[in-house]
Amino acid sequence: MKIGIVGCGMGGMASAIALARQGHDVSVYEAFARPGPVGAGLLLQPTGLEALAELGLLEQITARGARIDGLRGCRPDGRLIMDLQYQYGRSNDVGIGIHRATLFDTLFHAMRAEGVALHTGAAVTNIPDLDYPALQFADGDATGMFDAVIVSDGAHSTLRHLVCADARAPQYPWGAVWSIRPDPDRIWHDKRLLAQVYSGTRIMVGVLPVGENPAEPGGPDCISFFWSLETDAVEQWQAGGLDAFRQKVADFWPEAVPLLENVKSLDEFAPAAYRDVRCRKWSNGKVILIGDAAHGASPQLGQGANMAICDALALADSLKDHAPIKAFVKYEKNRRPTLRYYTWMSWALTPVFQGHADWIGHIRDVFFGLMCRLPGIRNLMDWTLVGRGRWFW
Ligand SMILES: Cc1cc2nc3c(=O)[nH]c(=O)nc-3n(C[C@H](O)[C@H](O)[C@H](O)COP(=O)(O)OP(=O)(O)OC[C@H]3O[C@@H](n4cnc5c(N)ncnc54)[C@H](O)[C@@H]3O)c2cc1C
Repeated sequence: MKIGIVGCGMGGMASAIALARQGHDVSVYEAFARPGPVGAGLLLQPTGLEALAELGLLEQITARGARIDGLRGCRPDGRLIMDLQYQYGRSNDVGIGIHRATLFDTLFHAMRAEGVALHTGAAVTNIPDLDYPALQFADGDATGMFDAVIVSDGAHSTLRHLVCADARAPQYPWGAVWSIRPDPDRIWHDKRLLAQVYSGTRIMVGVLPVGENPAEPGGPDCISFFWSLETDAVEQWQAGGLDAFRQKVADFWPEAVPLLENVKSLDEFAPAAYRDVRCRKWSNGKVILIGDAAHGASPQLGQGANMAICDALALADSLKDHAPIKAFVKYEKNRRPTLRYYTWMSWALTPVFQGHADWIGHIRDVFFGLMCRLPGIRNLMDWTLVGRGRWFW
């Protein structure tokens, strides 16, 4: 089949690799002139790692990333609020913290090795006929017709409404600022944790070890440092200056202050915003949405890239045995219980960690620590963390 993919992100590249290996003629269209990763370090969950293993990329990812055994969240006074460990899911489960550029490079090289045609500077603006899909660009140019089109243009998708006219994708009021910092003595890597500190719901700060920094080959391993912030408070935060920010970090998490030692300006932090994407359906005719375009969520549960890569493999699997329209129906039926679970969970948990209602944070502090200790509930929480959560329908 002739397959067009919109977006050279995590879902788009994973789809391209899997489908090219099945012998399809695959072309990827990317808006950026030079495709590259945008955003913070990522935590890859066991389910995402299984999908990368299927693509033959697990060894590279494991070698270049940082092993993570669990998530630990505390209050500034050290009281434990969250203690989730992968081993409670299945004994050999681990997560991998990874620099986004490392994951991008790995998928990109694998995709190029499969001979996938990549068209850059090609922002798709329309797909006029979903039953006979061709891609249209801003300058009026268009491709020929494809047998199937996969739209994987991310959370800020401008094509989503073509597939699902009543899709909703409101931006969350809170996002984060983040920065990649060196961990020369491997202090954070040796902990093997995604470590977070919460104070009420207004303060959330975290450190994720992500292994090698592709911008500094041979340099020290690095971590991704993030600080929760309301999206319209970013300018005010910048105006406050670096010293004020350092002091704030010192107030809530003194242990993390050395990570900011070499920061020269707040420009070394990038803002990130996320959307809560809800679509009643993900396909229409011969066009299908995957990844954040279909079900973008806040990164509270660290599942977005995992889900995009798992989507890609599930879709390729359906397309192996069926023509596009039937394959899309099968794919939606398979993926819906998992994807609905994580979209809902991420939406429900976001105000528990980011918002103005500090009272929610106090309730969280009372109950989460307890929940992490009750065997049945702890297992459910770990199951959710590893990516195996799902509704039954
Ligand atoms: C701060 C932050 C932390 C996160 N942490 C985690 C984590 O720990 N674990 C995890 O699994 N996930 C995490 N995520 C989520 C993860 O980054 C996304 O879910 C994932 O990148 C989605 O992949 P995608 O392929 O759907 O979209 P993307 O990777 O966003 O790719 C979309 C691509 O489409 C291109 N594009 C857009 N419009 C067009 C167009 N019209 N024409 C052509 N090309 C177009 C874009 O340029 C981009 O290259 C995090 C996200 C954020 C913001």
